[in-house]
Amino acid sequence: MEVLVVGGGPSGLIAAREASLYGVDVTLIEEDKEIGKPDHCAGLVSINALKKILGNYENVILNKIRNVRIISPMGNIYEVNLKEYKAAVIDREKFDMELMKRAEKAGVEILTNTCFNSSFKYKIMINAEGTKERICRKFGLEIPKSIPAIQYDIEVKNYENNFVEIYLGKWSPKFFVWTVPRDDCIRVGTASYSRYNLFNLIQKFIEKNSFFKSKEILRIRKKLYGKIVISGPVNNTSKNNIISVGDAAGFAKPTTGGGIAFGCYTAKIAGKIVAHSIKNNIRLSEFDRIWKKYYSSEFKKMKFSSHVFRSMSECELERILYEMHKLGIFDELSSYDMDFQGEIISKIMKSKLLIHYINLIPKILKAYIFEYFL
Ligand SMILES: Cc1cc2nc3c(=O)[nH]c(=O)nc-3n(C[C@H](O)[C@H](O)[C@H](O)COP(=O)(O)OP(=O)(O)OC[C@H]3O[C@@H](n4cnc5c(N)ncnc54)[C@H](O)[C@@H]3O)c2cc1C
Repeated sequence: MEVLVVGGGPSGLIAAREASLYGVDVTLIEEDKEIGKPDHCAGLVSINALKKILGNYENVILNKIRNVRIISPMGNIYEVNLKEYKAAVIDREKFDMELMKRAEKAGVEILTNTCFNSSFKYKIMINAEGTKERICRKFGLEIPKSIPAIQYDIEVKNYENNFVEIYLGKWSPKFFVWTVPRDDCIRVGTASYSRYNLFNLIQKFIEKNSFFKSKEILRIRKKLYGKIVISGPVNNTSKNNIISVGDAAGFAKPTTGGGIAFGCYTAKIAGKIVAHSIKNNIRLSEFDRIWKKYYSSEFKKMKFSSHVFRSMSECELERILYEMHKLGIFDELSSYDMDFQGEIISKIMKSKLLIHYINLIPKILKAYIFEYFL
């Protein structure tokens, strides 16, 4: 075969479809029995991204979101009420199935229940294995940094279905706890640098967080473990005749680990490059030149701000949230794209906010040097 795609998540399906649309012969293998199952994601995606990825997206969404609550380490609540729906909670199973149908329609052959092994012969492999790291290790491809994550689907009484909540501070040091309202339950999750810590973190949060405790828990419906990518994209996504896309190449937001939007945008570019590589012999590394041209600065800014965030103490976090609130930054968020966070990060950096934080300056400089010069 000309192109073998390993992994039937969103990035693999999009890259496969795109390559096939350019007239090459593409086979996609997925080790699970069905595409989209098991679902391992909170499913929060911006409406902008859904429009760009699917066009008509209504049939894959469970809920629309326009309110966010940020709960500070001391329990102060900052609400961001957007003028319009900016995000949606998608049904990942339906989303992935929709992408599968489109890939099949474009001519991709999809084999489920099929794991990669060395009997497959191909001219180019697209590695879309997510955070599994088996293909990357076997073929010596660069591996992005990911950390373990946990998520529970919880049924609660009197639940508000329109607020996404972000809990900062001790509930998940250096990260945050998220609650995302689905149609009929809340998804509560977090990530941590220590795998052993995860279960304790989420359990403690559910039992002890006073704000969350006000939501009476009826039942924990589902528990899942996974990994989220926090390093941003690797420098070289390809080696010899293999190219990585999606989480396998690190195309997730370093601030949150959300990888659907950038994974899909960049997989489309990769699929096209692969087709041109087969037909016109162009180098796979051309993909790196193109994605960097469009997205490198965004990723650098997000990585930089997550370095700063992760180095902050609870006190510094508390103060900075308060100052952001006083400067009206939360009110302005509605005019920004939730995926392209670079603009708001630049605005915060240029605001008077930092004057209050002389002691943060060394941390900011360190993150700056790390991100822009190393
Ligand atoms: C708890 C959690 C919550 C998340 N919440 C969000 C969110 O709200 N919003 C967001 O944007 N992102 C979120 N993410 C991240 C998001 O799930 C990923 O960024 C996204 O799924 C990446 O897509 P992908 O196609 O690159 O990889 P995946 O979706 O992981 O797909 C990879 C596929 O490859 C298959 N595979 C792997 N190895 C092989 C092999 N050797 N042979 C055959 N098949 C193989 C796997 O079975 C899998 O189906 C979350 C992640 C986690 C863990």
